Amino acid sequence: MKPTTESTQPGGIETSLVTSGRDTAAQKGFVNPPVVRGSTVLYPTAEDLHEHRGEFQYGRHGTPTTKALQEALQALEGPACAGVGLAPSGVAAITTALLAVLKSGDHLLVCDNAYRPTRNFCNGFLSRYGVETTFFDPLIGDGIGAHFKPNTKAVLVEAPGSQSFEMPDIPAIAKVAHERGAIVLDDNTWATPLFHRSLEQGVDISIQAATKYIGGHSDIMFGTISANAKAWPLVSDAIRLLGVCAGPDDVFLALRGVRTLAVRLAHHQRAALDMAHWLAKRPEVTKVLHPALESHPGHAIWKRDFTGASGLFSIVLKPAPQKAVDALLDTVQLFGMGYSWGGFESLVIPFDCSDYRTATKWAPGGPTLRLHIGLENLDDLKADLSRGFDAFNAAS
Ligand SMILES: *Cc1c(COP(=O)(O)O)cnc(C)c1O
Repeated sequence: MKPTTESTQPGGIETSLVTSGRDTAAQKGFVNPPVVRGSTVLYPTAEDLHEHRGEFQYGRHGTPTTKALQEALQALEGPACAGVGLAPSGVAAITTALLAVLKSGDHLLVCDNAYRPTRNFCNGFLSRYGVETTFFDPLIGDGIGAHFKPNTKAVLVEAPGSQSFEMPDIPAIAKVAHERGAIVLDDNTWATPLFHRSLEQGVDISIQAATKYIGGHSDIMFGTISANAKAWPLVSDAIRLLGVCAGPDDVFLALRGVRTLAVRLAHHQRAALDMAHWLAKRPEVTKVLHPALESHPGHAIWKRDFTGASGLFSIVLKPAPQKAVDALLDTVQLFGMGYSWGGFESLVIPFDCSDYRTATKWAPGGPTLRLHIGLENLDDLKADLSRGFDAFNAAS
């Protein structure tokens, strides 16, 4: 039977998302790999055991299902990717990656728009182990040089911030970091490697909360850590030493998500952009924070470094009492209220970065909402938000 692996496939990324990691012969002809549940792997002879022979040695270190997913993700990340580690959540991927590159006495730089639990890990855990964190303005660019100390070993960026949507200049930051011998980590959850090849832009370790777009159906917790040849040995060591691994059902569902990623993201992109333009014209909205809009301060960087935009963005409402915002939230039906995003469903959540930012001031001038535009009919979604705005106005 003809093997269908990445190396036999031509060109386009959509093709490789569908075909990579598929070993049809090993799968006995089935399109999808089995969900391999396994701890013990049996060795046929004592010599095999002594020599640790065989493709798989122990469940924690990999199974045919994890191998299929890793191959598919590696194809998605592109040729700069030397390996992909799998973690049980996005936060676990971030913490594992940070532990992989830091040690006691080191200094870490983190952009001020980073995911809040990332900050909490730095302040609440790394600090106990003698790693000092400095937060920096995400728009700092090559000005980041001023924050370096002799012991600065890593820089973590997030582009764009998943609530506030500032767009850091990753190539500029990475250039300075590499001149100073520091490793660059990127939380690439918003764009996914489909729209942002971080590892080709100077990032050494690219992290995804695969809970979001890779899974794509709000039914798994998952994280991935992709690294270039320089950082992969550190990442794979940390994964092994910390005992990080993911459950077989989630691995299977993450792989299933990869297969449809391109069509889902194309729709999220189109729908979110349409919605962003529609919202920009609403009198209740003073600002739309979406990097693909020309009005966004990070638009030029987005255009240069990204090949697309996903379905998540934020809006600033005109000043209004909390009860008006709550009236909007309680009126909309298709926009569910809940954390996370990246699934097929539309979501809305109020947020406020002002109480935890330390390097920058968050003062948007009105209540802020984050929207995820799902796969529902766009006119239905607009009608839903219109009803929400009616309630907002009535309660203002
Ligand atoms: C959700 C999210 C995470 C964390 O992922 P979990 O799977 O929920 O642990 C990390 N970074 C960003 C930007 C996220 O949106």
